[in-house]
Amino acid sequence: MEWLGLQFVTELPESGQVILNCTHDPVLVLVAYLVACAASFATLDMAERVGHAENPGARRVWRWIGGACLAGGIWAMHFIGMLAFQAPIEIHYHLPTTLFSLLIALLASALAMHTLSVAQPSLARCLRTAVVIGLGIASMHYVGMAAMQSSATAYYQPSLFGLSIVIAVGASFAALWVAGYLREGSGVAHQVLKYVAALMLGAGIISMHFTGMAALQLVLPDGAAPTMAVETSHLQLGLTVALIILLILGSAISAAMADKKLQNKEHDLRRVNALLSQLDQARMSLQQVANYDALTNLINRRGFNQLFAEKLSQKASEGGMLAVMFLDIDHFKRINDSLGHDAGDALLKVIASHIKSSVRSHEDVVARFGGDEFCILISLRDREEARNMAQRIMLKMKEPIELAGRRMVMTTSIGISLFPHDGSTCEELLKHADLALYQSKGAGRNGLHFFSPSLKTRASFELQLEEELRNALREEHALMLYYQPIFELKTGRVTKLEALIRWQHPTHGLLTPDRFIGIAENNGLIAELDNWVLRRACKDLGELSRHGCEDLKIAWNCSPLNLAREELADEIESALRTAGVAPERLELEVTENALMGNIANTLVLLRQIRALGVSLSIDDFGTGYSSLAYLKRLPLNTLKIDRSFILDIPTATADMEIVQAIIVMAHTLHLQVVTEGVESLEQYEFLERSGCDFIQGYLLSRPVPLDELRPVLEEINQRKPSHAVNPLSLAHGTFAPMSLDPSPKNPAPHAGASVVRPIR
Ligand code: C2E
Ligand code: CA
Ligand code: CA
Repeated sequence: MEWLGLQFVTELPESGQVILNCTHDPVLVLVAYLVACAASFATLDMAERVGHAENPGARRVWRWIGGACLAGGIWAMHFIGMLAFQAPIEIHYHLPTTLFSLLIALLASALAMHTLSVAQPSLARCLRTAVVIGLGIASMHYVGMAAMQSSATAYYQPSLFGLSIVIAVGASFAALWVAGYLREGSGVAHQVLKYVAALMLGAGIISMHFTGMAALQLVLPDGAAPTMAVETSHLQLGLTVALIILLILGSAISAAMADKKLQNKEHDLRRVNALLSQLDQARMSLQQVANYDALTNLINRRGFNQLFAEKLSQKASEGGMLAVMFLDIDHFKRINDSLGHDAGDALLKVIASHIKSSVRSHEDVVARFGGDEFCILISLRDREEARNMAQRIMLKMKEPIELAGRRMVMTTSIGISLFPHDGSTCEELLKHADLALYQSKGAGRNGLHFFSPSLKTRASFELQLEEELRNALREEHALMLYYQPIFELKTGRVTKLEALIRWQHPTHGLLTPDRFIGIAENNGLIAELDNWVLRRACKDLGELSRHGCEDLKIAWNCSPLNLAREELADEIESALRTAGVAPERLELEVTENALMGNIANTLVLLRQIRALGVSLSIDDFGTGYSSLAYLKRLPLNTLKIDRSFILDIPTATADMEIVQAIIVMAHTLHLQVVTEGVESLEQYEFLERSGCDFIQGYLLSRPVPLDELRPVLEEINQRKPSHAVNPLSLAHGTFAPMSLDPSPKNPAPHAGASVVRPIR
């Protein structure tokens, strides 16, 4: 240790005199302590910054600043501590050695800051580093001491010397550990802890220095006399150095504080940004929910309207054509009613994918508007493109779909409107496509129609008609019943009448039901209308009884929609009771499709009606989808073969075979058979031969009003004796129904028929 000028007390020379009255200036000691504390605080602060800095550049800068603060602080503390040292000898300092001590301080501090920048150094690493730093600080101290030049020789007491090194290592370890602990956290408690730690670390550093000083013993050679303490400017110098270093440390701390604030602000900003983007995402997913149909994943009406508006304004400015295509799945309600809503939903999904696969995925927009209604928006060059696509969809739709263990084939009705021909606004084009769809449905479904201006006229006409029908239902004489005789072949007499509604319209004349039943059904008027017919028919039955026709039955037509109303049975009972008519004289006619639509519910209602004593007839038989199994379950009395099977008899042999088969089947099920639409003698003869029970048609009579009915009935009944019809006599014209025969080419002469004028 000779090179450092370190001589230990164990080596105290034989001769010489130990200077005993070495003192320290208390002010400078205090200043040195403050500097040590400030340096400790600054170092902890910088370590915290290193831990929080987000980019490596900033981390490096704070590490250097921290290192400089620590080195500068310790060295300044040491320097001020040395200035505080007062001994009765003249002391000078060797500048290069002093600077070298500063260099050591810098190296030790750099090492300290490097360890502090590691997120969570292990205990072993902390200890290792603390030893190196402690040795560094001690080296700085003793190198600094070695810079001291005076007439005395410095000797050190080994125990205190060792203790000073232990304190240096201990203080270093404490610094590393506390800094790691203080790295995270914020708030007042954290700040207070940092101050306490700084005071303790400052105490540690200064303790090391003064333990080192306590180990120092200055020995003057024999004969050398101690000088009197001279007035020096150590205090001033010490204060100046302290001021400079404190200013430097203060600036570093301020910079750290500013950085912290800036970083907090950045964090806040980032948090706000994250919050904003979360809000944005929430808004987008809300929009997604609002604009999409959850079942099919297609956009819904809302989403469609937005896209439609955008595309329309684009086409309006750039030019080009658009087609709006409305799709309605035919008889979808039947699936829901018979197989349940889950099956209905599954079917809608398949249909949606069928539609999607038939359009051009990028350009065309497919939406579900709710229920079984879909809408497609297509950019195109000509109208044929729209037709082709519609046909493609219709074809795709006919592919069999497996559902609930069944294979079904669905069809669709389509209505198309075109931009710019059929309208310039979204509302107009949608309305027109809807009108065209209505046309497709009206034309028997499974077809496509383009919008045409005549549809619009028709629609507004129907709107007006609906209003007028509403009023007609409240008037006494606007609606009336016509009766068409039903001739029983076995007895050769008219035993039944079918009640058929007519509307005496003030401007359009007498309207047949096909012009207004649909309007009534679509606008919630059908229950009222059918109830009106029921009550009027019951009243007329009473009237007929008074005129000697007590045995005549009346067949009353009931809309499929009415079959869904539970109160129907009560209404029938009430109508019969009010009119005082036996229930056996009333027959309810329901179409085949109406019966099959919702078989389970209908069955309950029909049984109630049958229990009243009212008979049941299945109308338009052969046009629907009834199965024998269902027919067997229904409480039916009569089966009416649809007019379409009779139309081409006797030319169509296939039809003749079908009619014969239906008659046999009906009889097997113990049902009586009525054939309607019989217009010719050949048809009559054929039906009689085939075993048909009843005949109805223009051959006998057109429907007539009640007050014209009696002569018609009398005439028909007189034409044949009341026993069974003789085919031969018919063949020879003795039956002679021709007097009333109004074949379509030769309309009936009586008023009831001739005033019926269809409106188009
Ligand atoms: P529907 O029940 O099939 O009635 C038979 C229709 O065929 C009647 O037409 C009748 O005039 C017509 N018809 C009868 N014999 C012949 C014939 O030989 N040749 C031709 N070409 N036609 C014949 P209408 O009175 O126009 O009734 C049409 C449909 O309107 C009825 O078909 C029925 O479904 C419905 N309807 C009639 N009255 C009512 C009613 O009061 N309520 C309900 N809901 N529907 C009714
Ligand atoms: Ca009928
Ligand atoms: Ca019919």
